[in-house]
Amino acid sequence: MGQLHDDDRFHDECGVFGVYGHAEAANLTYLGLHALQHRGQESAGIVSSSGERLLEEKGMGQVGRIFKRRQLLRLKGSLAIGHVRYSTAGKSNLINAQPFRIDSCKGEIAIAHNGNLVNAVQLRRELEASGSIFRSSSDTEVILHLIAKAPQKDLEAAIVHALKQVQGAYSLVFIARDRIIGVRDPRGFRPLALGRLGDSHILTSESCALDLIDATLLREVEPGEMVVIGSSGLRSYHPFPKVQPAQCIFEYVYFARPDSQMFGRGVHEVRKRLGRELAREQPVDADVVVPIPDSGVYHALGFCEVSGLPFEFGLVRTHYIGRTFIEPQQSIRHFGVKLKLNPVRSLLSGKRVALIDDSIVRGTTSRKIVAMVRAAGAREVHMRISCPPTVGPCHYGVDTPRRSELIASSHSVDEIRRFIEADSLGYLSLEGMYRAVGEGGSFCAACYTNDYPVAVPEEEHARIATDRRPR
Ligand code: SF4
Repeated sequence: MGQLHDDDRFHDECGVFGVYGHAEAANLTYLGLHALQHRGQESAGIVSSSGERLLEEKGMGQVGRIFKRRQLLRLKGSLAIGHVRYSTAGKSNLINAQPFRIDSCKGEIAIAHNGNLVNAVQLRRELEASGSIFRSSSDTEVILHLIAKAPQKDLEAAIVHALKQVQGAYSLVFIARDRIIGVRDPRGFRPLALGRLGDSHILTSESCALDLIDATLLREVEPGEMVVIGSSGLRSYHPFPKVQPAQCIFEYVYFARPDSQMFGRGVHEVRKRLGRELAREQPVDADVVVPIPDSGVYHALGFCEVSGLPFEFGLVRTHYIGRTFIEPQQSIRHFGVKLKLNPVRSLLSGKRVALIDDSIVRGTTSRKIVAMVRAAGAREVHMRISCPPTVGPCHYGVDTPRRSELIASSHSVDEIRRFIEADSLGYLSLEGMYRAVGEGGSFCAACYTNDYPVAVPEEEHARIATDRRPR
């Protein structure tokens, strides 16, 4: 079986959303999850509180397919949380779909998690040894067990007690009968924003979800901050020792929607600046600049601003391709890539083309795209990448291939150029990437530097090597 959709990309992680104090909490959560769909398409779920008990609806696939009127009507109450999932840890099936709900001595609670815990394997082993029974293979369930076992009776204190034992990346949204709680890990790897709609509060992975429901962005939840939203309004705590934040720089490069505000900046603006820096560092003699859609579009616009070269949509992307499980015929060349991208021959023929992309993961897709652009008549094909070479896997909630599969972990830029058969290849430097992101803020760039802000235990390395989808 061939899995031809986007498997040469880093994959989005998960998206979380929460509403407190709105008569249409479940409907708003449904809309919020729609806006966060790019962060995970494998499963989605919503848990609401009727005031007396938590109600849950989950399913596999995309938000629009899972939730029909019937399901949303069942999700009564003025507070709700939701989750879209792309499995970064744990297999992809309904048992792993979030939010996870439990009934414990701290009352009914449910959790939605974006991120990955690097010590989950070890914690799970310890919990199982002391009698905990896990239902899922997800790292998130570890947090629930730690909360249930915490000696504190008070839920907020139990959550803090649990989170002090986990290491890694977590942006979390909890729901209890009478409140929602948002927490960002002390490094703040993954985003979490706070919004307002009338008297209601919203928690969301990205601010683009606030735009959809006409809510306003109040601020981002800070790294290491816990916000509790209940009948007495919003309370904020900083319960963890302060450390240097390490917000994921790759959210800017690729993951986040360009219309989101994140880590204090507009994503589209950072992408354009990455393109400008790329044009300064890696100029090219070309007739036309062509983005690899969709993510390369803003980078290419910035590249054109500095280079003065014309921008063309020389590759057209179809948005209606899901996973494709048919074996390509040998006779249909570049079948997988062609399902998603088609060159516009009249824009490319006879031209020296500068292709702009945000990353080369294994190199196999880039190689097919270069060949496709040549086959469409391009005289020269120059590849420009708006970030440094990707040399290491992510352990903080982004689905990446293992290190040995990352072409830049073992090949020089010129070797990669030869592999993808481009006339030239240029990457943005690390310094250029930081210049584009600008002053202020503190970021993780471990997949470019191998400098991991939270130490990665052996068990997590082993998990990455084994607990991954087929590639
Ligand atoms: S390793 Fe890369 S993808 Fe993972 S959090 Fe750090 S910057 Fe983001």
